[in-house]
Amino acid sequence: MTTSTISAGSIPRSGNLAQGAIELRQVSKSYGDVTAVDQLDLTVEPGEFVTLLGPSGSGKTTTMMMVAGFEDHTAGSVLIDGKPVDTLPPRDRNLGVVFQNYALFPHMSALENVEFALRMRKVPKAERRQRAADALERVGLGRMGDRKPRQLSGGQQQRVALARALVFNPAALLLDEPMAALDKRLREQMQEEIKTLQKSLGISVLFVTHDQDEAMAMSDRIVVMRDGKIVQSGPPEDVYNHPLTDWVASFLGDTNLIPCTIIERDGEQAVVDMEGLGRARVRDRGATGESYAVSIRPEHLKFSTEPAAGNGYPATVVSSTNLGATVRHRLRAGGHDLQLRELSSDGAGRLPEEEVRVGWDADRAQLLVLES
Ligand code: ADP
Ligand code: MG
Repeated sequence: MTTSTISAGSIPRSGNLAQGAIELRQVSKSYGDVTAVDQLDLTVEPGEFVTLLGPSGSGKTTTMMMVAGFEDHTAGSVLIDGKPVDTLPPRDRNLGVVFQNYALFPHMSALENVEFALRMRKVPKAERRQRAADALERVGLGRMGDRKPRQLSGGQQQRVALARALVFNPAALLLDEPMAALDKRLREQMQEEIKTLQKSLGISVLFVTHDQDEAMAMSDRIVVMRDGKIVQSGPPEDVYNHPLTDWVASFLGDTNLIPCTIIERDGEQAVVDMEGLGRARVRDRGATGESYAVSIRPEHLKFSTEPAAGNGYPATVVSSTNLGATVRHRLRAGGHDLQLRELSSDGAGRLPEEEVRVGWDADRAQLLVLES
């Protein structure tokens, strides 16, 4: 078990004027009949950490491959720092890349693997050695340069891959599920280290994951993808608290969905009539579709202590399960199955069949479009 950590270390960034802005304009990729990426518009600002989040097959890796230059796009344009790079080979795009399946060379030592990135860029040998050693130092592997990949743990191998991606001072980093093979604890440790490194270097990152917790923990902005398209993007809390559709709400955590009809809306708030429960004033992002629901996260649903308070609805307890840190209550209200989560330390015991009232703070309920 290593106690090494990743740090920005003492390596100055070489006189690199690149800012690391990435821009995709109407980029599409088809494989025969399959449209893997569909007219994608996406920007990563200099120094920004943007995460593509979506289920398997939603087009995340294809998007990364087109930015890196390993795949040609069918239409559109990719720009780095404002310049089109569509015809540039990968090594001339100045992007550091760590992909899940972009393995280290097994016959080379850790140091040689990192050096390789510089050899490709024709850096003289003496300088190469020093920079590779410094990059390994930066990812906490200063003393492991001689080891072959098979003599390193999965986490250490990923650090070598990260050192290899950083060693030529790229304008931006592309990380495609770089921690997918690691166990949960190591993954969380690496998440924090990568985030710290990214901040101290001020480097832009385009990151890919299908893990919503990882996306929430690391990103300045989350871009949710489905079927090759962006379905929502914004800061993590914003996407989590204000999903535009039931699909986004359910992909990014648990939620209660109560079908409703709209009585009145102004783009920021709406008055709705919830099936079986009646009227409520809720948050509205103006999304339009054929049918609607109110979404309330289980941790935002509360037992109301004052029966007369607005937004209170009668409910019956079905079951209460202590999950350690939290208690999950299953309830019936207005013909709906609802989930309410509270901290174990806040929770009073609830009995099956107990009659209760539940409610929420008005800005915690989000009107969204039912699409799935
Ligand atoms: P993700 O990384 O989000 O899991 P991918 O970008 O790998 O998704 O894949 C998006 C879609 O493109 C999927 O339907 C996948 O089957 C298809 N696809 C990806 N690569 C190829 C390929 N080389 N040939 C044919 N279809 C592909
Ligand atoms: Mg993928």
